[in-house]
Amino acid sequence: MRQYIIGNWKMNGTKAEAQKLATTFVKRVTEASRPLPHIVLCPSYPYLTTVAEILKESSLEVGAQDCHPEHRGAFTGDVSAFQLKDVGCSYVIVGHSERRHLHHESNGLIRRKLEAAIKVELRPILCLGESAEEREQGKTFQAISNQLTSDLPLEFTPQDLIIAYEPLWAIGTGITPAPGEVEDIMGFIKHELSVRVTGGALVPILYGGSVTSLNAPTLLNLPHLDGLLVGGASLKLDEFWEIISASSR
Ligand code: PEP
Repeated sequence: MRQYIIGNWKMNGTKAEAQKLATTFVKRVTEASRPLPHIVLCPSYPYLTTVAEILKESSLEVGAQDCHPEHRGAFTGDVSAFQLKDVGCSYVIVGHSERRHLHHESNGLIRRKLEAAIKVELRPILCLGESAEEREQGKTFQAISNQLTSDLPLEFTPQDLIIAYEPLWAIGTGITPAPGEVEDIMGFIKHELSVRVTGGALVPILYGGSVTSLNAPTLLNLPHLDGLLVGGASLKLDEFWEIISASSR
């Protein structure tokens, strides 16, 4: 499977910085002499249209960082999946741990967001992963299985979504699981999906949490890994390009 490298810019940057990153990546992708992975940039809401406009004629795609489960209505400050699709997004991150914890998002809400995105053909990237406490108690696999059960829509096809395994203790901490551990969890998620939906092993499974240009080559070589969700490092032009360049498929 062709890999995915997705940059989550979170609530960072200015319009000028977003323009510079997007323009430079388009130039580098256009000049690249070898096949590249799918590349998705996820700026914050105010810069979506600017970035979408710059990426329009390229192979790069735009994603948002969250969506509301309703199509439209009296939801001040929210943005619907339909609206994101309307301004050129192809993807949306759903259930990021910063949303689950800082905004107290429930599994029920996350499932509704996934359903809303799939309905308008906006491909959700469902983030899940165990906490440090669950890991210490040896409950990693149980925690992931529970999240899959409560978050996934009742009906979906493997092409509808992407899953990003992001252990909470690895996000923004500089600590990453051992590659063998990541590979075991990727295999476990693929197995869980294959018993839940026909062709479930075809759902792309990414890893996210303190990815840098140093650990990316090892991670991207793991047989079960279909790509990376990158936070902090995706805002650094050369660093992110090195991560993209480390993808061999
Ligand atoms: C993230 O927030 O999705 C993430 C992976 O962040 P970082 O790469 O900065 O750990």
